[in-house]
Amino acid sequence: MSHIDAAIVGTGPNGLAAAVTLARAGLRVELYEAWDEIGGGLRSKPLFDDDVVHDICAAVHPMAAASRFFREFDLAARGVELLHPEISYAHPLDGTRAGLAFRDLDATCEHLEVDGARWRATMKPLLDHSAGVVDLILSGRSGIPRDLLAPFVLAPRLLAHGSPLASGLFRTEQARSLLTGVAAHAVGRLPSLAAGAVALLLGHLAHSTGWPIPRGGSGRIAQAMADDITAHDGTIHTERHISDLRELDHAGTVLLDTSPKGLVRIVGAALPARYLRRLDRFRYGPGAAKVDFLVSEPIPWADPEVGRAGTIHLGGTQREMFRQETLTAKGIATAEPFVLVVDPMTADPSRGAPGKRPVWAYAHVPNGDTRDPVELVRTRIERYAPGFTDTILAQQGISASAYETYNPNYVGGDIASGAMTLAQSILRPVAQIDPYRTPLPDVYLCSASTPPGPSVHGMSGYLAALSVLRRKYGIRTPPSLAPRRRSHTHQ
Ligand SMILES: Cc1cc2nc3c(=O)[nH]c(=O)nc-3n(C[C@H](O)[C@H](O)[C@H](O)COP(=O)(O)OP(=O)(O)OC[C@H]3O[C@@H](n4cnc5c(N)ncnc54)[C@H](O)[C@@H]3O)c2cc1C
Repeated sequence: MSHIDAAIVGTGPNGLAAAVTLARAGLRVELYEAWDEIGGGLRSKPLFDDDVVHDICAAVHPMAAASRFFREFDLAARGVELLHPEISYAHPLDGTRAGLAFRDLDATCEHLEVDGARWRATMKPLLDHSAGVVDLILSGRSGIPRDLLAPFVLAPRLLAHGSPLASGLFRTEQARSLLTGVAAHAVGRLPSLAAGAVALLLGHLAHSTGWPIPRGGSGRIAQAMADDITAHDGTIHTERHISDLRELDHAGTVLLDTSPKGLVRIVGAALPARYLRRLDRFRYGPGAAKVDFLVSEPIPWADPEVGRAGTIHLGGTQREMFRQETLTAKGIATAEPFVLVVDPMTADPSRGAPGKRPVWAYAHVPNGDTRDPVELVRTRIERYAPGFTDTILAQQGISASAYETYNPNYVGGDIASGAMTLAQSILRPVAQIDPYRTPLPDVYLCSASTPPGPSVHGMSGYLAALSVLRRKYGIRTPPSLAPRRRSHTHQ
């Protein structure tokens, strides 16, 4: 086998981002993917009907719209359209109007009535320093913040929204539950500082770069990244499960887009016992159990305004969410768990056809939960959208434990590839200066189990690749990721 500079195991957004970065720096890269198609958490396909495209994992992309990697990679210039629903996310409540986060901050504040001014006071300074806040949270622990004011804008809000003080910050349940529903994306105990950071990051992005849905499905993002890799002489192998590092002897460096468990499976025997003990202390978080529905009509929300939102949080009141999420994090199943719903056709009409629409939903459940989530999720949606059940044409559930079979990175169904506690959101998978290195000089970890953690931002892969370039090749200037301009000949 001919020598290559870098082998990347796994083609999730982080494996692809690592490969894009290394290939753009002039390295010869090869990727190995266990499945028959690339993408990891970025796969889309018809499940029940050829006209209807479902996202198998990630569906909504606030991070891909905002992260440094994707800002430089420039999805729009590569033909990937990120489409915006008018309302980024909504939070239905029993017997009263829903909380609504419009893309437009003014419209949100107006709808929140007495809490409008407080919502603005929370979000506006974050919006004024948005790039700084995003880079601070998503750039791992690398370097001095580019916007020196960003930490000062973030810190007081974090202490307020990431602690029990959160329950007294707004007067209405609409505002309280609206932001707590975003905090629940951290999939862990509530309230907590880690969840507060997630709420402020995603919460303010809803009013700027938005919570977009890619036209045609999340798979389009993966394909754009793969196209860039092959355009720069990279090679992608599918149906190649790597189970032993010796399979990659022809590579100068190996980057693993895997969980720490995957690292141990592939490299185990070569790792020092002390490092193995530290990896053993890495904790996995609660699981996700997903349901895909094919429905005949838009979801009949009791508050019709909710139908204009791309993402809908079903968790009830703030108090209920604090309880549900904390119990789930402790491994206790609840009858009414937090459920996230995405209605892609609110932004992308190409996903379905008349009388056929996809609905994407998942529930937070204890790690390793084996229950089929269909009834759990269906009844949760029915509570806020009476008549939903009558619109269902087909449905398919995947339990948290089955998610690990689908993708070994989601240990016990933990789609964050590691619990998002405060310590683990910063120091993952172990506490060390360069989190992407392993004790083996030419083996790196580049998955969501490294900073900045889960979501489709590409930053773990990007930062791991920069670490390889710096250490192995002495390259300190990141390569350009911008699309190559086509040269035009004027006659
Ligand atoms: C149901 C669900 C919903 C989600 N929703 C969103 C969302 O809306 N927005 C968002 O931003 N994020 C979302 N996420 C999270 C997001 O998908 C992940 O954080 C992200 O995909 C992690 O990227 P990654 O590259 O680290 O790993 P992954 O995307 O998990 O990819 C890892 C890849 O490595 C492959 N692999 C692993 N081991 C091996 C091996 N030994 N040999 C070969 N290949 C191997 C796997 O097959 C997989 O393709 C969701 C995840 C799930 C599961």
